[in-house]
Amino acid sequence: MTSIRIAEVMTSEVLSVDPELPFAETIRLMEERRVSCVPIVEKGKPVGVISERDVLRSTGRAIRGEAFPERTSEVMSHPPITIGSDASVDEAIAVINLKRIRRLVVVDGSDQLVGLVTQSDLVAAQTMAVARERDLLEERVRSRTDELEKLSRRLERLSMADPMLGIGNRRAMEKEMTRLHELARRYQRPYSVLLLDIDEFKKYNDHYGHPVADQILMQVCEATGSALRTSDSLYRYGGEEFLICLPETDLEGAATTAERVRATVEEMGLPHAASGRGIVTVSVGGACEPAKGELSEWTVRVSEADEALYRAKEGGRNAVELHQA
Ligand code: GH3
Ligand code: MG
Ligand code: MG
Repeated sequence: MTSIRIAEVMTSEVLSVDPELPFAETIRLMEERRVSCVPIVEKGKPVGVISERDVLRSTGRAIRGEAFPERTSEVMSHPPITIGSDASVDEAIAVINLKRIRRLVVVDGSDQLVGLVTQSDLVAAQTMAVARERDLLEERVRSRTDELEKLSRRLERLSMADPMLGIGNRRAMEKEMTRLHELARRYQRPYSVLLLDIDEFKKYNDHYGHPVADQILMQVCEATGSALRTSDSLYRYGGEEFLICLPETDLEGAATTAERVRATVEEMGLPHAASGRGIVTVSVGGACEPAKGELSEWTVRVSEADEALYRAKEGGRNAVELHQA
């Protein structure tokens, strides 16, 4: 906790009087300056205190017939309870509570009077310190929460991405397909799904080796992405297979996109010595969620695209096949 020093909260413009001052004069000064406590000082050093209580007690005695005190020193409480200006507010509060007093006389390192501090000054300062501490803590919690949120968003992104290709992985695909299907169902809108598979990729790996095959996988991924519209999305479905979501796209639109992707890869002319065609090609299968009629789960659409892809492979590869509803 941030501790506040007495010097920061005390009153330093303090009325003080000499012990030899006539007591009546001290009372007059107290009245004039509207103070309820006066340190009595000899050569700058506090030797006693006159409080309202002392004034009341002595005047009370005078009323009952006792002699009215001549000198202030006859009435003052002494020795005064003092505290160093370097002490903390917490220490001062402890002293005040222990001695059951409402004020403390503040002295410097050479025991010279430098101020006066009241119980209410001390309590106000302590309340302020606690509030300051609370604000600091709140700020720390806020910035920590921001950091944690940023971190968890990063983790979320990482858990959704394929580390090698940088596109969405199967988890991301499932999330997007669920959302897409939900929207299609609510608004009776179509969407299509394409499954793309690199032809004879096992042979490519066997012939060129895994690292070169990885490079081809990346090139096919990039080329496929560039052949899509920004509203479409590309995911790694697994191995050398990709899934493409086409929102607001009917079967005809799906056929056009599938053919564009197939042709883009073919036109790259990436050598594939182990395949019949001599270049890297892909096969694509597609299916469409009907805008009207019976709506089934998105997984059914993916299965239909997979069956169509199988037919494209059976038909000789480097081809597009679509599921006809
Ligand atoms: P098809 O034309 O019928 O698709 O034949 P294919 O050889 O491509 O199909 P298959 O499913 O038999 O083999 C897929 C191969 O793809 C197996 C594996 O060697 C390769 N493969 C899958 N994922 C990766 C990958 O991340 N990196 C590399 N280098 N190869 C991969
Ligand atoms: Mg393949
Ligand atoms: Mg495959």
